[in-house]
Amino acid sequence: MFLDVGVGLISATGVSRTWVAIAAICAALVVSLGLVQSAAAAPVWPVIGNGSSGPDVTAAQYLLRSHGHDIAADSEFGPATESATVAFQQSRGYAADGVIGAETWPGLIVTVREGESGDAVAAAQTALNTYGYGLTVDGRFGPATAAAVTSFQNDKGLSVDGIIGPETWQNLVGHGGGGGGGGSYSLPIARDALSRGYYNAPHHDYPALDLPVGTGTPVYSVRSGVANQIDNDRCGLGYEVVGDDGATYYYCHFSAHGVGSGARVGSGTQLGLSGSTGNSTGPHLHIEITAGGANRCPQSFLSAVYDGTTPPAAGDLPTGGCIE
Ligand SMILES: [Zn+2]
Repeated sequence: MFLDVGVGLISATGVSRTWVAIAAICAALVVSLGLVQSAAAAPVWPVIGNGSSGPDVTAAQYLLRSHGHDIAADSEFGPATESATVAFQQSRGYAADGVIGAETWPGLIVTVREGESGDAVAAAQTALNTYGYGLTVDGRFGPATAAAVTSFQNDKGLSVDGIIGPETWQNLVGHGGGGGGGGSYSLPIARDALSRGYYNAPHHDYPALDLPVGTGTPVYSVRSGVANQIDNDRCGLGYEVVGDDGATYYYCHFSAHGVGSGARVGSGTQLGLSGSTGNSTGPHLHIEITAGGANRCPQSFLSAVYDGTTPPAAGDLPTGGCIE
């Protein structure tokens, strides 16, 4: 299917193990200091870039328009949106990588309230509609939009003022709650992007999984832990997430990183965007799980997450014969 090679066991050298141990200790310290985000913490901003599509992209395009960048709000993050993003980032002194993530979103959003009009209002209406409000995206903040905002703020336990400020924006756009699952688990990509069968497909010749998703698709952490960026010839851009469950989760061939090394991630936290970097012949997401010094089959684990049932512990997953 896709050409790529294992990263888990190969990288589990002395150096890597030391780093894993250090990361685990740091994770323990963070927990003991009570610095872990509570369940009610602000949602994580989504990461979108070239190849991404959907309402988050449309909202960002309207917001870029509101900052004077004359691009189409067509839900497809292509070269024009990337150029506008770079220009906006340069104007703010942000890292000009053309990827809209945790640094760029807070600068991009615009506070809007009833009676106002323009592209920022259209962005807000687009975002509200992802929660089923069915607003006409006309860029006019009238009574229907105000009612939707009030309802949304009520549902999220926010202060109900009908104004879309930073906190409401972050809850609106940062809804990217991953691929869904049982709360402690998330699918690695949005649930509606791939049917169940893709999670139960064989890999070449060792326990791993390749998911055929296009460049720019959001990738989510399936378990909580500490994420470390990977950038090498095999995995390309990717992550090693040292899970709180003791297993290590590898994600490879990204087009863009979304979180920094050492970041704590929850299940459903977006790690970055899929791509085809490293040893890869086409866009896809490569996933490996290692536990107890062995590569484990991700298939039954992720199929259970898809089904909403509790997956086996990573250390109990088989090391061979991933598909029956
Ligand atoms: Zn693979």
